[in-house]
Amino acid sequence: MKTFEMLESDVRVYCRHFPAVFEKAAGSTLFDENGKTYTDFFSGAGSLNYGHNNPRMKERLIEAIQNDFVTHSLDMATTAKRRFLERFNSIILEPRNFKYKIQFCGPTGANAVEAALKLARKATGRQTVVFFTHSYHGLSLGSLAVTASRSKRKSAAVPLHFTMPMAFDGDLGPDVDTLDYLEMFLTKTSSGMEIPAAIIVETIQAEGGVRSARYSWLQRLESLCKKHGIVFIADDIQVGCGRTGTFFSFEEAGLNPDIVCLSKSISGYGLPMAILLLKPELDVWEPGEHSGTFRGNNLAFVTASEALSYWETDEFSKSIGQKAHRAAELLNEIIQAFPETQASLRGRGLIQGLVFEKDGLGDQVSREAFDRGLIIETSGPNGEVLKILPPLTITEAELESGIRTISESIESVLSQSEKYAKASPA
Ligand SMILES: *Cc1c(COP(=O)(O)O)cnc(C)c1O
Repeated sequence: MKTFEMLESDVRVYCRHFPAVFEKAAGSTLFDENGKTYTDFFSGAGSLNYGHNNPRMKERLIEAIQNDFVTHSLDMATTAKRRFLERFNSIILEPRNFKYKIQFCGPTGANAVEAALKLARKATGRQTVVFFTHSYHGLSLGSLAVTASRSKRKSAAVPLHFTMPMAFDGDLGPDVDTLDYLEMFLTKTSSGMEIPAAIIVETIQAEGGVRSARYSWLQRLESLCKKHGIVFIADDIQVGCGRTGTFFSFEEAGLNPDIVCLSKSISGYGLPMAILLLKPELDVWEPGEHSGTFRGNNLAFVTASEALSYWETDEFSKSIGQKAHRAAELLNEIIQAFPETQASLRGRGLIQGLVFEKDGLGDQVSREAFDRGLIIETSGPNGEVLKILPPLTITEAELESGIRTISESIESVLSQSEKYAKASPA
């Protein structure tokens, strides 16, 4: 790790949590340079839903490179981009009765959020965007202005204007519908609130600690937006592309957002790519008004088109559901086996969060798991939630063995802290 400590900026973060030098990867497994293997329960924060170096996508990619296809094209028309547009439309949009236009923005999630906010403001002529407690939408200035973490906001060092936080579902306890509060502000002419341009929401707040909004809450939010002419933006960057078992995380809730942000797993191969889905009437851009150099990553279009094959039948979706069911079953067994941790489970599909009430336990378990060859990250404001985010293509055996490692790690952390408690009586 010396090279990285000497030469790479202190801003690096994941290499501190997972201190190995990785060399190879396949499916749900990573190999470090010493040949040690790790099961990946992090999947590049949800960028590797189809696993590392997915063989089908790799084949298409090698073929395209061998044939000297166009790698970089600004936003010029290419055969690779046309194939992606046509397949995305016929495999994803049409069967769901969605009529969206597709915008290629810069290749990161934050780029997609920036574009969405800018477009919503332009289309409505309004300024404010409402976001929710515990939200995470990226760290560029515009996306940071709708991200909830106080410490992350502070690092902007300039005011993050024209946004307004509201309470996410459940954040005022199970008996309060936080939308009562938002609706009062929107409805009363002397509430002091200007009608916002947009409301941006994650159906499941992955970084915020695996918090899911109820479907009824999301439906009410959408109808409030409709009623007041507010652009309803779904940030499906982390929990879209199949994470919850359906391609979009909001399908079961029956939503039809005005704008959808997708990135992370949209390329299918871990290549940088982000898109915006927007209702045709919102497509008020002038040509070139929101441009950029890297909006035509044709490598990503090739793998993204291939990734869509997983969605041509409902086999894949069903298999995600089955694995999710098995994962929840095993994680609930862990909760029962370690009552002293006061843990609980939340999540949907193959994003599950083990919530530890005991401070620091999540991070300790993550560290212990890494030593045992499992890569698993924590989330939530205090790192109190162990986030289970395996590739959707993981085998059931790998899933079970990874969860066994979590159990062993908890046991080890607890026995260490017991020893410590005995060695230093209060
Ligand atoms: C990761 C993420 C982003 C930001 O994406 P970057 O590619 O890191 O800029 C935005 N929203 C959500 C929900 C994310 O998970």
